[in-house]
Amino acid sequence: MPELPEVETVKRTLSQLIINKTIDYVTVHLPRIIQRPDDVVQFCALLENQTFKKVERRGKFLRFILDDLILLSHLRMEGRYGLFQKGDQVEKHTHVTFHFKDDTELRYKDVRQFGTMHLFEPGEEFLKPPLHKLGLEPLEANFTFDVFKEKLKNRKTKIKPLLLNQEVVVGLGNIYVDEALFLAGIHPEHTVDQLKDSILKKLYDAIIITLQNAVDAGGSSIKSYVNGQGEMGMFQQQLKIYGRKSEPCYNCGTLVERIVVGGRGTHFCPNCQLVN
Ligand SMILES: [Zn+2]
Repeated sequence: MPELPEVETVKRTLSQLIINKTIDYVTVHLPRIIQRPDDVVQFCALLENQTFKKVERRGKFLRFILDDLILLSHLRMEGRYGLFQKGDQVEKHTHVTFHFKDDTELRYKDVRQFGTMHLFEPGEEFLKPPLHKLGLEPLEANFTFDVFKEKLKNRKTKIKPLLLNQEVVVGLGNIYVDEALFLAGIHPEHTVDQLKDSILKKLYDAIIITLQNAVDAGGSSIKSYVNGQGEMGMFQQQLKIYGRKSEPCYNCGTLVERIVVGGRGTHFCPNCQLVN
């Protein structure tokens, strides 16, 4: 599943591909992708003649700014965008197509069909689901240690599920939570209210470093992972702990373990990430 760095990279790439393109019409082949408005015909009608002005990101949502509307798009498991020429062969699992007046097409493809799109009036998108309860943006200036600490205060849950909860910090998913906890030396099952301030500070720093490094890596590899047809997908990160079960820890050589925490496969080093 794309996490903050991947969505950020998709955002940057799309910014280069679709800004100032005007929609002629939209076709939707899988109505359930469209969550708002309820009526898909209305969704398509509202988007006619709208021009993409900017692409932003809020958490793991892409936020497309059009002339009079905001389009939110969540890629969920496997959603992808690609820019094509009119007449290019349409790949299987293409569910939504934005046909531009310049005869190019932005196509949304989603094999798993979990992705969503919502349309809002500008400003309204922050007041209603799915954005209204989203937590702190970890790469923005207002994500200070004090604010982070306040969000974690008196929480009796395990640290990993809390970090996955988008109401605290946005953008972290299964991969980068494991990476951040490894960097901070915290066991994924540690109870939040038992973490000392000094450890929380390590975690705060680790979240920023992990995500920023991934964003930087994504930013530098944009060209290599957009294929000839301009299709964007995930890129392979240099991961220090995630997916390395039974391989030696890069810090200490202890074999990396995999456990399940809150229903999610979790990788950690039993030597570097002690419970206490
Ligand atoms: Zn280790």
